Formats: sequence, structure tokens, C-alpha cells
Amino acid sequence: MKPIYRGRFAPSPTGPLHFGSLVAAVGSYLEARTRGGEWLVRMEDVDTPRNVPGAAESILATLAAFGFEWDGPVLWQSRRVEAYAAVLQQLRGAGLLYGCACSRQEIAASAGHLAVDGGLVYPGRCRGGLPPGRPARAWRLRVESGETAFVDRLQGRLVQDLQRAVGDFVLRRADGLFAYQLAVVVDDHFQGITDIVRGADLLASTPRQIWLQSCLGYATPTYAHLPVASNAAGEKLSKQTLAPALDPARASRSLLHALRFLGQPAPADLALVTVSEVWAWALAHWSFAAIPRQRSIPLPNPD
Ligand code: GLU
Repeated sequence: MKPIYRGRFAPSPTGPLHFGSLVAAVGSYLEARTRGGEWLVRMEDVDTPRNVPGAAESILATLAAFGFEWDGPVLWQSRRVEAYAAVLQQLRGAGLLYGCACSRQEIAASAGHLAVDGGLVYPGRCRGGLPPGRPARAWRLRVESGETAFVDRLQGRLVQDLQRAVGDFVLRRADGLFAYQLAVVVDDHFQGITDIVRGADLLASTPRQIWLQSCLGYATPTYAHLPVASNAAGEKLSKQTLAPALDPARASRSLLHALRFLGQPAPADLALVTVSEVWAWALAHWSFAAIPRQRSIPLPNPD
């Protein structure tokens, strides 16, 4: 039996909800609801030093004020550390995980090139064991050379050679925290997510997630990476680029802009109606095919 559609929105509480994250919420929500599916919210607060106090509550309050209705309780990654630790044990038992003693400087000194995520490709120095007298700092997942490929529903076929693009990647960091790549894969599986709709800034990390799913015997969901909103300088809208927080008093207007950003021909007077009326229009007219197949779109008119 085909599983039901189950989508999700997984914000990190590093600041209030801004237009860029609203686009991901709207796209994943409409795709789930128009396919009769469920839509779950997961708070990706695993990187605790980056969490901004009050941001998670503010994101949830904004989602509610914007008329999003999620299924079941919010899953908090900060409460899932035992599950992540158990999966690391499993990978270690299977010989897929190894301790790494390298400092950032040592990696920088021997890395040949930049990784797809802007970091450094891990050259594999600790693959065959820790250097004598050196303790493990981080824990890395072995990757193989060869292509990891998938077909994104919007961005088409993407091929990555993980060894060249990132090298063996970190699942538990030197500071003891579990890496996003581990938490997202474990939780997408735990929550039974069948279809992922999120921003194209995560496209390059998808092959790592697919590789980890295959190491763990998890099914791979479908992926659709939406264009991300960028500012006039071409930078992704984020707290770092000072994207303005969304104002619940102007929710209908922001939803209208998000719909248009996603290629939906939303009429201008939706800005003047209630959020329920905006959702009624959006649910009746949602067209996945109309979403621009671009990775990034400059925002002429931030709202
Ligand atoms: N927490 C991630 C972010 O806010 C999203 C992860 C995901 O959707 O897979 O960028």
C-alpha cells in the first residue's frame, strides 16, 4: 500500500520567521494539503548555541497567526539526542563511522579544495584510524567514491560524488553536538516523512542525506527544492542578511507575496481579505507545475 503523503516544515530557531522561510512553509503546506496529506512541524534546534531565546515560540506563534494548521505535536530536535546517539552506535557497529582527531587547521593544511557547502573537503586522514595519542574530536561517516544521484521534482537530476564534494562528513561535531545531517535524516524517518519540500539552499546537502538514509536502510523521500528568495546583492534572505521579521498584522499580504513568489497567479485583492480566505484561494488554485524551476529569485520588493 502506498504510504500517505506526509510533508513537513523544519525551521531552525535562529531568528523570527522571515519571508524566505514563509515561502518554504507555504510551498510544503499547500503541496501536502492539496494531496490530502499531513503536514508536520519540526523545530530544528539541535545546534543549541545558534538558538535565539524565544525564536522557536515566535516562529510557532507566527505560523499560527498566518493560519497554518499542523498535524500532531511539534517535534523538538533538542529532545531527541538519545535517538541520535542510538543511530550513531548503529553506524559505528556497522563500521561506517569513525573518530577523527583532525583540527580545522590540519584539515585546511591538507584539503585540496572547497566543499559544496563552503567548508573543506575532508581528506580522509583519520579513515584508517586515529593517529597515536590523539583522541577523537568528531565522528565522521564514510562515503564512497562514485555518484549519488537523485531527481528533484523542481530542480531536475542532481549528481554528486560525495568523496569529491565533501568527503567523509561529520555526524557528531567536535563540540559534542549532533550534526544537522544526522538529525534531519533520523527525524524525517522517525516522522514517516514521504515528501520533502524546502528551500534550494539545501539542495547540495541532499546527496549526503540520501547516502545516510541508504546506510541506515531508510526509504528516501521525494525532494522538491523551491527557489530561495535573495536580496538585491544575490544573498539568501536570512537573519544574517537582515531579512525583516514577518508582521502577523500583514499576514494576508505576506501570504499573497509568497504565493506569487511560487508562481501562483494570486489576485492582488487577497492582501485585503482574511488569512482563511487567502488559504481558500490558495488551496483551490495551487499548481505545483507553476513553481519557477530556479534555485534563487531576487526579491524586488521585500515585505
Ligand atoms: N532547519 C533547516 C533550515 O532552517 C531546514 C532543514 C530542512 O528543511 O531539511 O534551514
